[in-house]
Amino acid sequence: MKFFIIFGNPVAHSKSPQMHNFTFKSLNFDGCYTRYLLKDENLLKDKFFELNIDGANITVPFKEKAFEICDETVGIANSIKAVNTIIKKDNKLIGYNTDAPGFYESIKSYKFKNALILGAGGTAKAISEIFDEKNIDFTILNRSKKRLDYFINKGYKSFSWDDFKIDGFDLIINTTSAGLNDENLPAPKEILESIFKNAKYAVDVIYGKETPFLKMAKEFNLTIKDGKDMLLYQGVLAFEIFTDFEYEKSEIEKYMKEGLEL
Ligand code: NDP
Repeated sequence: MKFFIIFGNPVAHSKSPQMHNFTFKSLNFDGCYTRYLLKDENLLKDKFFELNIDGANITVPFKEKAFEICDETVGIANSIKAVNTIIKKDNKLIGYNTDAPGFYESIKSYKFKNALILGAGGTAKAISEIFDEKNIDFTILNRSKKRLDYFINKGYKSFSWDDFKIDGFDLIINTTSAGLNDENLPAPKEILESIFKNAKYAVDVIYGKETPFLKMAKEFNLTIKDGKDMLLYQGVLAFEIFTDFEYEKSEIEKYMKEGLEL
């Protein structure tokens, strides 16, 4: 049997075990997936070997540490410098980032010419890298200036609330944690009103609740989406890596969707 874990803090809320276990069972793959509450990021590598697992997902706040502990990192994980999926091969740790392509998969049917990313944390980095890779025009808007350096150094259009020039954006994405455990909007109401007036889509990466951001977007008749599809697709891509691309993606997606709804 192959054994997988999701490391995080907190991790109890994670829906990854039910998604992966249901899909293992449905595809007759001899695998088991569980949660591990990790308190100290410095123990991540030791725990991986101590628990003798074959692979892992890594969630907040350990994705940067996960990048550091890998012997090899693949694809877009190298530009984001964050890893959410690790497999063990010949006792070496190989790291991937499936959050970025997972997000792209969730919005790829949308017709938009440009996007505004609210927030400048790990998720904003992942989305900006995949947009850059796909030649999508995007702008970053963050509450504070401090975190914008990464984006400015990459040559991305980046603003804080003070110096933001409002423009027409088709797609607005909330990657901040505003609305996760509170009723805050991710930017001042006046800025959001001006942006929403000309927008088509509003996407929040938070899932499991309708955030104030999505509620407000609805009032402006935008097409809205929460983070559930991103969660689903990052999981589908991780599952493919865990099972060495043995199954059809459409089949994995079907069972992961069912597992997510359990
Ligand atoms: P980070 O901690 O790296 O970044 C948080 C960002 O949110 C910062 O830019 C911060 O701005 C901003 N922020 C926090 N509070 C507020 C506020 N009240 N108003 C405005 N801006 C605020 O977080 P992550 O990128 O790791 O995660 C962000 C969210 O994405 C979380 O809610 C997480 O659950 C979700 N997520 C969902 C996934 C999915 O599969 N659906 C996958 C990964 C993450 P400042 O710099 O000014 O502090």
